[in-house]
Amino acid sequence: MTDYPKPSSFPLGARLTDGVWTQTLSPRSQTEGRPALFLDRDGVVVEEAHYLHKVEDVNLTPNAAETIKAANERNIPVIFVTNQAGVGYGYFGWNDFVAVQAQIISDLAHGDAHIDGVFACPFHKKGQGVWAHDDHPARKPNPGMLHHARDLMGVDLSQSWIVGDRSLDLLAGKNAGLVGGVHVMTGHGTKDGEHEAALAVGDDGYQALAANNLYSALSLLDYLR
Ligand SMILES: [Mg+2]
Repeated sequence: MTDYPKPSSFPLGARLTDGVWTQTLSPRSQTEGRPALFLDRDGVVVEEAHYLHKVEDVNLTPNAAETIKAANERNIPVIFVTNQAGVGYGYFGWNDFVAVQAQIISDLAHGDAHIDGVFACPFHKKGQGVWAHDDHPARKPNPGMLHHARDLMGVDLSQSWIVGDRSLDLLAGKNAGLVGGVHVMTGHGTKDGEHEAALAVGDDGYQALAANNLYSALSLLDYLR
């Protein structure tokens, strides 16, 4: 069994599952059978800060808390699915990730909003040591983190949506069999070709929509029952 680096202590509901961060913050009874709102974290919920790992660099995007609160009020589980190659590269460690997450959760709480789950993948083809993996099943655009969410929380992927600033976020949703994804123009969203690539992920079985930011993606919640 591989001995993966761990944080000094795990926050509530968190563990590493074969090296992937898997954390549930709500009882399964509250998420079982529900459609989920999967959110990419960096560039969507928080402003893009190159390999975010410092608490002082945490800034929620405009009205992110209001959007998440609206999902909370509809009993829609809100779940972060975030590639964290910075851990794999050795740029920062799990303790930094834990501190940043605590700040995000605290900032959201100030807006009466909470998240129900957090999944983070540190693997990358250029990762160091145990984090090196050519094409890890949990690294977006692969659907592994969404599968972990399904297995641990019982959410209904076939009724769920994802919001992301990169085409690989929408592709992960497609690969997991979600209803669709919303591409936002925050973070990397305005990079050359990103918007077009994200919308091109859509097809007959998967909706790819556009929004300016997470807040304007709020209207997508009408698709969730
Ligand atoms: Mg992002």
